[in-house]
Amino acid sequence: MPPDAPAGGSVPAPPLPQPQQPAALRSPAPPRLHRCCHNRIRTVLVHTSRYAFEGPAKLAADCGVSRSTICRLLAGKNNPSYRLVQAVTDALAKALGTPLNPRDLFSPNGTYPEPSGCALCGCSGCLPEEAFDPRGRIKPEYRRMRPGDWSRSPTTAEA
Ligand SMILES: [Zn+2]
Repeated sequence: MPPDAPAGGSVPAPPLPQPQQPAALRSPAPPRLHRCCHNRIRTVLVHTSRYAFEGPAKLAADCGVSRSTICRLLAGKNNPSYRLVQAVTDALAKALGTPLNPRDLFSPNGTYPEPSGCALCGCSGCLPEEAFDPRGRIKPEYRRMRPGDWSRSPTTAEA
């Protein structure tokens, strides 16, 4: 008789094996989509006459999606479908009057074939609207910035 057997002689039943769920039945993690963390849509919007005012609403209409979809995209809060990426690329290319590739606008790491958003849009260098105060003066944080620097992705601006 083993020393740890309970008094009285009854042998406890061995623990039942825990049923193993097949992997397919476990709550599956949502498929990990490649997250586009960076995009330059806003940079392009401000360089077009069509989208400079009420850009997100007009872009949403041109792409056939809701304004909130475009706003989430601008904020980098969604994983855009290929259809949306292509629609945005086509709309912005039409507004700029120059061909665009989705890689010019969307990047997983913030780097782009053309580092300067201004150059991408055929602009020789500008300052964004938010660089100016209500009286039209350049805000202090932008005074040392060269025109066009704001449109460079951070990783490439340091190179
Ligand atoms: Zn510019």
